[in-house]
Amino acid sequence: MFDAGWLVPGWPPELGGRNAGPLESLVFIEELAKAHVPRTTNVQGLGIVAPSILDYGSEAQIRDYAMPILRGEATACLGMSEPGAGSDLASLSTRAVRDGDHFLINGQKVWTSGANYADFCFLFCRTDPEAPKHKGISIVLVDMDTPGVSVRPLPEIVHPHHPDLNEVFLTDVTVPAENLVGELNDGWAMANGSLAHERGMVWVSTVMGLEEAMQHLLEDAPHLTKRMAAAERAVAVDQIVRLAIDTTAARCLGYRGFAKLMRGGSAPEQALMKVFASETRQRLALTAAEIQGADAVEVGTVEMDGHQSIDEPQGTWLEQYFHSFANTISAGASEIQRNIIAERVLGLPRG
Ligand SMILES: Cc1cc2nc3c(=O)[nH]c(=O)nc-3n(C[C@H](O)[C@H](O)[C@H](O)COP(=O)(O)OP(=O)(O)OC[C@H]3O[C@@H](n4cnc5c(N)ncnc54)[C@H](O)[C@@H]3O)c2cc1C
Repeated sequence: MFDAGWLVPGWPPELGGRNAGPLESLVFIEELAKAHVPRTTNVQGLGIVAPSILDYGSEAQIRDYAMPILRGEATACLGMSEPGAGSDLASLSTRAVRDGDHFLINGQKVWTSGANYADFCFLFCRTDPEAPKHKGISIVLVDMDTPGVSVRPLPEIVHPHHPDLNEVFLTDVTVPAENLVGELNDGWAMANGSLAHERGMVWVSTVMGLEEAMQHLLEDAPHLTKRMAAAERAVAVDQIVRLAIDTTAARCLGYRGFAKLMRGGSAPEQALMKVFASETRQRLALTAAEIQGADAVEVGTVEMDGHQSIDEPQGTWLEQYFHSFANTISAGASEIQRNIIAERVLGLPRG
């Protein structure tokens, strides 16, 4: 995809694109999702880490870290969250101390997707403990085979044999000073830039995953509801119709935000979209599992491919329900999105 200019069509050819416009990119992403072709197996690497290094990194970092990700020759993980710092990322305490020509790093990360097969980590660490908490954070590139880095996978409930989330422990890890990305203590500003990369067109595959799950529910519904008593069936049908309306609404919301972005405006719909689509998906899976009844309880029987997109419906309805929390928690949990909507969209005072 990189060689043919299809990796990120909106980027120039030397970065794996073809200078496509936003509408062309949208069509392309829709078609890929429809065909179930993943653009990458390293979602954080392609979506956040590589673009951030391209924005803020040195020439050597772009050559040695960003380009190998784009070419599919290396994978990266994103070391933001810690046991005491998730939604409140600025509370992170992993410490990097400058000592001559290197940093000495100590601390722990958690929920680090893909750390168990990553070549390097885009690590957020505290470099000035005296500064206000948003001001003393920096980003350092840490090769995962550096002595002192250890990774412990966290098995997930539905497919424990293909763990993707990990704990990462850093004990006296020595990293060359030139691995600092951008300016020292400027990590917070970069974090906001980094995550903005993630928000662009993520909604497309989310909406398409929702539509596909809805289609499956509509296929399953006739025989599942047939065995129900009339009153129960009426409730189930009502829930299904409501979900079908919400699925269409999610697509409309996505298009509305996209149209605003194309006109150059900011799009608060991104936060609305994130909450609405991820929670609709969760409601859908739960409704389907409830309609299915006792059979839904059978979980862990489907061998899933750990590299599939989390947007694609996989496994039984109950497994899909368990999985749906990946989207309502990651990239800003629902409660955080509601805070954003309250403050930035509705203009309500801070609680
Ligand atoms: C599938 C998945 C993949 C992930 N991948 C990565 C990764 O690659 N790298 C990485 O660094 N992290 C990753 N994460 C971690 C993710 O960023 C955090 O889980 C997320 O930021 C929430 O933080 P937390 O888990 O510490 O929960 P907490 O922040 O402790 O939140 C707990 C609960 O309190 C609520 N809450 C917190 N603060 C507020 C508030 N101010 N107002 C109202 N409610 C609040 C939250 O919404 C949540 O319901 C991943 C998570 C998931 C689920």
